[in-house]
Amino acid sequence: MITKKGINASPGVAIGPAIVLDTEEYRIPHRTIDPVQVPGQIHNLDAALAASRQEVSELRAAAARKLGDKTAVIFAFHEQFICDPKLRDSVVALIERRHYTAAYAFGQVLNERQRQFRNVADPYLKERVRDLYDIERRVLRHILGRAREDMTRLSEPVIIVANEITPSQAISFDRRHILAFAINVGGQTSHTAIIARMLGIPAVLALSDITADVAGGETLIVDGTNGIVVASPDSETLERYRAQQREYRRLEDRLRRLRDEPAVTRDGVPIELLANIEVPEETHEAFEYGAEGIGLYRTELLFLSSARMPTEEEQYEAFLEVMRAAGPRPVVIRTVDLGADKLAPAMEAQRDHNPALGLRSLRYCLLHLDMFRVHLRAILRASTAGDLRIMFPMITTVMELRQAKATLADVMEDLDEEGIPFRRDIPIGMMVETPAAALLAAAFVREAVFLSIGTNDLTQYTLAVDRGNERVAHLFSSHNPAVLKLVHEVVRATRGRKVQVNLCGEMAGAPIYCPLLLGLGLRRLSMAPKDIPSIKRIVRATTIERCQMIARKVSRFDSDRQVLNFLRGEARAIEPEEDL
Ligand code: PEP
Ligand code: MG
Repeated sequence: MITKKGINASPGVAIGPAIVLDTEEYRIPHRTIDPVQVPGQIHNLDAALAASRQEVSELRAAAARKLGDKTAVIFAFHEQFICDPKLRDSVVALIERRHYTAAYAFGQVLNERQRQFRNVADPYLKERVRDLYDIERRVLRHILGRAREDMTRLSEPVIIVANEITPSQAISFDRRHILAFAINVGGQTSHTAIIARMLGIPAVLALSDITADVAGGETLIVDGTNGIVVASPDSETLERYRAQQREYRRLEDRLRRLRDEPAVTRDGVPIELLANIEVPEETHEAFEYGAEGIGLYRTELLFLSSARMPTEEEQYEAFLEVMRAAGPRPVVIRTVDLGADKLAPAMEAQRDHNPALGLRSLRYCLLHLDMFRVHLRAILRASTAGDLRIMFPMITTVMELRQAKATLADVMEDLDEEGIPFRRDIPIGMMVETPAAALLAAAFVREAVFLSIGTNDLTQYTLAVDRGNERVAHLFSSHNPAVLKLVHEVVRATRGRKVQVNLCGEMAGAPIYCPLLLGLGLRRLSMAPKDIPSIKRIVRATTIERCQMIARKVSRFDSDRQVLNFLRGEARAIEPEEDL
């Protein structure tokens, strides 16, 4: 039995067999073999190396013919690498001595080589790491042949163990059979975490090399509430977690019963609880959990799921589906927020050294106006179906917001000329997710009808901490006094104006922060659908007066630790259990 602690990214407990995605979409079904199978595995390895060598040599010849010798050099490196007898010897040694399967042994050797290449000072060799991934995939494809598992058509429920899950991968999975994620990298607000919450499955991230520690088919427990993964549990542990699983389901059922109760504090202040969604199918689920509207529709998945940019018609269909499911309820469609860790296959290659600070999000759209205009046309066309609102992400300057609005006005003019209907009075808002936008909120409220505070990026940019990097995850805290000051600044800027303010970062769905956020003046929160019932429970158990006292107290702290300790104490004091 191995127990590993990581970051709790999506709550709940799952128990089931592991499927290890060692390299991208490849699953290594078995890690070890019976000694009698050793010669067969070596034979598989040799056949795969020979087939890969043949392919690469053909590619080299074709590249030399079509693209010249410079490109052919890349394949010459691949060929040389695959033919190196030392490579074969290392893999064979693992098969013979440790009884690894050919696929697993090859993966291990390549992992080691990748590590070595990454650590050398020579930039040429460093660059070759990507080639090694390519070689690994090619050889594994030959070794595994038909044994590769098609992730879009899984035959049994599994727990996915992987280095990382990209949004485009996640939507291609067969969701009915995915029980949980156990992932090497990532932080609490990384997109892998957001996806897990979207799928409503438990997830633990930042488990360093869980892909190396777990074998395909091994039984795993993923405790997403506490950030723990247990491999090959003993019967006592298994029983303990089964009981926890039952308890968790009971709590969920009880929370669901709050669906039709109003989200009003004990002193009578209504709080609007909205849902964040990633795909149109989630809209129904959001209302089942009691959402009063869609506070954030992240449109990126539409772009991440296909090799080309989605057409106007495809986008329109998706937006219309959300609008129809929402009926008269408000829907905030965020214009596409691509870049950084959300790279669409059809985007031109990113050359940014620091992609979070690079050409991402609205910046990308404003430079790719053709694609942006198609996107805006599709949104506007869907606006006749209900209460649609448009929100621009990643704004840092007033000029950017004006440019985005001018582009929208242009598109409206085109639609007018073509006689295509749309809602002219569509409310236009923006995300506040950069410190610049928060500090200048007073200027932005003159230009936008509503603001939505994105604390995931706001925390990343204020604290200079990559939200997806597990090595600095301990420094990522949305309750850091610097972040809270900015949140307060934004809420204050909207006072006395007809500007709505919402908070849609992951902190909106964490019960511990709820009283503080209400105390800071927020009356609208947007979160993963599944989080709505537990936030409603807190809202109904507290008073605004108490929340304001909490906010006042927190404003005197200057470290995130003090804030967290205090909020933990408060959460225990609220104890709203009897309200259920
Ligand atoms: C945010 O940054 O807080 C946010 C809600 O947007 P996303 O998580 O999609 O970047
Ligand atoms: Mg963001």
